[in-house]
Amino acid sequence: MKSSTNATIRNSASGPPQYCVFCKIVDGRLPSYVVYQDESHIAFLDINPFSKGHTLVCPKRHGETMWDMDEAEIGGLFRVAAKVSRAVVTGVHADGFRFIQNNGEAANQVVAHVHVHVIPVMFEDKGRFMGRKSLSNEEMMETAQIIRAALANLV
Ligand code: 5GP
Ligand code: ZN
Repeated sequence: MKSSTNATIRNSASGPPQYCVFCKIVDGRLPSYVVYQDESHIAFLDINPFSKGHTLVCPKRHGETMWDMDEAEIGGLFRVAAKVSRAVVTGVHADGFRFIQNNGEAANQVVAHVHVHVIPVMFEDKGRFMGRKSLSNEEMMETAQIIRAALANLV
């Protein structure tokens, strides 16, 4: 998948990894509500969620878009995202979920480090515009704990 085209993706958030917000989360320079990590991936709650449980799944290795990853990395990322989605949906008692994965400024990518949004949805959200929510520190801590527990219980 890596660079099999000459097309480029413009990203105003582009910058060196040392200034990357998600690299800072990966190496602990910035706090986050981590729900899962392994050698190559980290998943944490979105600070400004569309719904309670909205989680971001990232490769630890910095890359701006999917085009910076090889096929094995893309497969690994979505494998982790699928696993996390089960824990998120179970944990917050959702009825479904969305994956959103933005690449480039035109797609509204704001953080230039590859990530998959896992957004739990309820039946009552169906067809409705979902605005950003503001959850308290306690609610975020509790939500992260619920998702971690659900992950630990996955078969
Ligand atoms: P994008 O539009 O790039 O696909 O989404 C980036 C997401 O990262 C947004 O939903 C935004 O709320 C989230 N975000 C931005 N900065 C931070 C941060 O410092 N910590 C966390 N946990 N999420 C962030
Ligand atoms: Zn990064």
